[in-house]
Amino acid sequence: MADLYCVGVDLGGTNIKAGLLDEGAKVVGNISVPTEVDRGTQAVVDNITEAAERVMREAGVDRGKVVGIGIGSPGPMSHRRGLVINPGNLPCMKNVPLRDIVAERTGIPTTLENDANAAAWGEFWAGAGRDVSDFVMFTLGTGVGGGVVVNGRLLRGHFENGAELGHMIVQPGGRRCSCAQHGCVEAYSSAYNLARRAEEMVAEGRPSSLKKRVDAGELLMAEHIVEAAQAGDALAEQVWDEACYYLGVAMVTMQHMSNPQRVVLAGGLIAAGDFLLSRVRSHASKLTWNLLNDLPEIQFATLGNDAGFIGAAGCAWEARRTGEW
Ligand SMILES: [Zn+2]
Repeated sequence: MADLYCVGVDLGGTNIKAGLLDEGAKVVGNISVPTEVDRGTQAVVDNITEAAERVMREAGVDRGKVVGIGIGSPGPMSHRRGLVINPGNLPCMKNVPLRDIVAERTGIPTTLENDANAAAWGEFWAGAGRDVSDFVMFTLGTGVGGGVVVNGRLLRGHFENGAELGHMIVQPGGRRCSCAQHGCVEAYSSAYNLARRAEEMVAEGRPSSLKKRVDAGELLMAEHIVEAAQAGDALAEQVWDEACYYLGVAMVTMQHMSNPQRVVLAGGLIAAGDFLLSRVRSHASKLTWNLLNDLPEIQFATLGNDAGFIGAAGCAWEARRTGEW
């Protein structure tokens, strides 16, 4: 393998993570710096560029050997135009042509990718999907993010909003989602909404061991629901089971849409371990057809919070491989 490297940058609302990786996905250096979103556009752009420069410097790699930079950005964004459009958690980054700015400042070819796609690409390239060619990832955090790889390529779609898996409608007319649709998988199965649903049901007067926390003014967290469900609390069990059921619906939908070999679950909710995995698998296998045995394997992601910068570097390698530059 040639002694060449790509930088991956994961642009978050709080921190910017940057890593330097070779073509075999080996991480030879990584850093994290504050985004400093309050200081405005120029400061954030400076921090991104400096993070990329610093990770190269600190790894002691000759910059002539760095052949690409990949940046994972919150959406909405445009990969084709290299443009950050209007990310909710980075209000100062409206319509910033980040790809071209970073490429110009560093002199290194740069690609911009949606952060959820970049994380999915990270797992596909270097984590739980590295031995398959058709792959899907669901990230279960505040929202439900996703990424889809079809025949070894990221699915982006004509409007570049493909793979918004959290907003697949699994219950028409159901619970309102932050996106204004009703019945999205995110409205039931994100860590955040799992807790909000339990609070709503407690407020309706349903008996639950969670009421003590709500009455004490505590904000319910997903782990409280998991803990109560495991202890046999009926309300928590219902909320948990429905969250897993709607993920099962989403698994079967993906089975019939892109027919992946493997679907990977990532994000904070996977801390629930087998309590999550076996329940989702069980719902999916009850919901799926019996014409073929082509339900994807359902597993956990393996890269944790590093998936973002690893995948962003992977996107740079892919841009180089496919002749984007
Ligand atoms: Zn939605």
